[in-house]
Amino acid sequence: MKVKEVLDNLKQRFPNEPEYHQAVEEVLLSIEETYNAHPEFEKQNIIERICIPDRIFSFRVTWVDDRANVKTNMAFRVQHNNAIGPYKGGIRFHESVCPSILKFLAFEQTFKNALTTLPMGGAKGGSDFNPQGKSDSEIMRFCQAYILELWRHIGPETDVPAGDIGVGGREVAYMYGMYRKLAHENTGTFTGKGLEFGGSLIRPEATGYGNIYFVMNMLKRKGINDLKGQIVAISGSGNVATYTAEKVLELGGKVVTMSDSSGYIYDPNGIDTEKLTYIFDLKNNQRGRIKEYADKYGCKYVEGQRPWVEKCTIALPSATQNEIDGHDAEMLVMNGCIAVSEGANMPSTIDAVNIFLKNKILYAPGKAANAGGVSVSGLEMSQNAMKLSWPKEEVDKRLQDIMKSIHESCVKYGTEPDGFVNYVNGANIAGFMKVAKAMMAQGVL
Ligand code: NDP
Repeated sequence: MKVKEVLDNLKQRFPNEPEYHQAVEEVLLSIEETYNAHPEFEKQNIIERICIPDRIFSFRVTWVDDRANVKTNMAFRVQHNNAIGPYKGGIRFHESVCPSILKFLAFEQTFKNALTTLPMGGAKGGSDFNPQGKSDSEIMRFCQAYILELWRHIGPETDVPAGDIGVGGREVAYMYGMYRKLAHENTGTFTGKGLEFGGSLIRPEATGYGNIYFVMNMLKRKGINDLKGQIVAISGSGNVATYTAEKVLELGGKVVTMSDSSGYIYDPNGIDTEKLTYIFDLKNNQRGRIKEYADKYGCKYVEGQRPWVEKCTIALPSATQNEIDGHDAEMLVMNGCIAVSEGANMPSTIDAVNIFLKNKILYAPGKAANAGGVSVSGLEMSQNAMKLSWPKEEVDKRLQDIMKSIHESCVKYGTEPDGFVNYVNGANIAGFMKVAKAMMAQGVL
């Protein structure tokens, strides 16, 4: 396999999909040497079969707004690879959603899910529907209309969706309700459900908590055992960002930034538990903007910018893709940042990743660092299949064990001769090998 040839071929066959090309390039560069050491992979053309999704559903969603206007949105489900288990991956509602973004997310999800140690394939879905400013009834009608089309393609043993940007507990509940009614069954398709109808304890917290468990594993290798004295910059103020902040505070760190798509706040005194509760309520109940935090607590708010110019020792991007570019990465390193761990999916551009690696800081790519969310989703599936629910402590312990195991896989496959751990290579190679071996064993399909 020659990375350039494979990439050129994919770019020619699937033009205008920059995010998908970016995600594929990053993985191919990491696995090239390992792949080429296995001529049997090339013989079975594993590389194209692992890069191109198994199938993509695309459809129109028609719904009615509160003023009785009939609206349409485009919606999709990318079922990328199910060699190791049922398709599994979240649903995103955001105006930027398009095949390129969902293909990159489903591709990443395949390797991430392989790392979790649980039997889950990779998928992703979503719509260009913008939930901002919509009433609760409009959200419900949109979710129902989306599932009216998608329900026949998903199921507990085929494809299990969950949340992502713009899709939290409320949206999952509406989608699950419609699915249950149409499919006539309660077997737990969908994860991130409410606790009353099959959800798992710790699922809302899992991505954020998992990211911090991963950070702690990285820091421990450097002899650092808690977050005392660490200044932490977080982007986003949604599900991943808020629970990340909660765990940072619990372990003694100081959170100085959070953001949304309009701008960021910088609070040099630290966002403490009370202030974080305010943000949680602002975002989840009042559907407000992060600027309101600055108005309330009198700190700096920077409109239209990202927080990476602020001084921090740990950066935890937890909003969206490509939110740290080369310049941001330079700023972080220059300001003394020792670790970047990705709560979001592909938040760092390829330039930014190269700067982190060149400077040999601790850099954890999303497919390793944010795998806690899908891991607890996998545990939710297990609990649903067994028709029981585990206590919080048990789920949290399993989450910690899984993050430790993902960290160990990264160290195993990513340690360089000088002892530096390249977590990008480690995660990509470990995830790839598992999926590739499963595909080889199952024949040409
Ligand atoms: P939420 O919708 O709960 O929060 C997203 C946050 O990011 C919001 O603050 C949002 O601001 C901000 N944001 C969204 N788009 C942009 C943008 N284009 N520029 C700047 N800020 C933006 O989503 P999650 O917290 O669930 O997801 C965040 C990231 O984590 C995503 O990359 C997702 O794929 C990833 N992830 C999530 C998992 C989960 O379990 N939820 C699991 C693994 C990864 P605003 O309110 O203004 O839109």
